Amino acid sequence: MTSSAVQARDTPGRTAAPEVVGLLVIDADHGRARYDCHRPNCLQRREGPVYGAAIPDWSKTVKAEHLARYHQGEQP
Ligand SMILES: [Zn+2]
Repeated sequence: MTSSAVQARDTPGRTAAPEVVGLLVIDADHGRARYDCHRPNCLQRREGPVYGAAIPDWSKTVKAEHLARYHQGEQP
């Protein structure tokens, strides 16, 4: 066993990835956006899509509105 192997094994690593529970997807090429929800108890897995000029305002509020509607008590 080499010293580098020991060092590598003992180096603390970040193995736990943060849990992704919701994802805002903006497809600029096609001028549309949607919000995908990955919470296991979700009743509405997808919000949108919305198109063009509606995207900026929609993307600011969709997460909070989704949480308020389907996941009351969760913080955005
Ligand atoms: Zn949801």
